[in-house]
Amino acid sequence: MRWLPDSTIVDFLNNPGAPFLAWQAYYEAHKKHPPWGERSHFSQGILEFYAEILDKPPDSSVVGFMRLLARKNYPKGHEPCPCDSGRRLRQCDDHRKLIYEIRERVAWKDVEHDLKVYLQGEKIK
Ligand SMILES: [Zn+2]
Repeated sequence: MRWLPDSTIVDFLNNPGAPFLAWQAYYEAHKKHPPWGERSHFSQGILEFYAEILDKPPDSSVVGFMRLLARKNYPKGHEPCPCDSGRRLRQCDDHRKLIYEIRERVAWKDVEHDLKVYLQGEKIK
């Protein structure tokens, strides 16, 4: 994920700084991983990352959003929204805005790469 141009050091300290330090402190005190804060490895972890930024459960509907985010060009308003509501993107305000916001922070080339890795991992399962 990229930093937005108006991000500050305080933003960095809030996330990922503070969660990282809390994780480390728990680990050092209890000698085991805390029950929060770590994504799964491999393709499940990729799905969890995109589910998190999309504010959705980590299920197969996330892949439809990843396909849109992995495209070089911005999606057009007449295209169907990947949320399965049956609405077009121009009619699905929340998701249209969310897709545009995420595209500011995550490069389409990175999503393209993540999607490839995710789909390969799914094939291996
Ligand atoms: Zn939608």
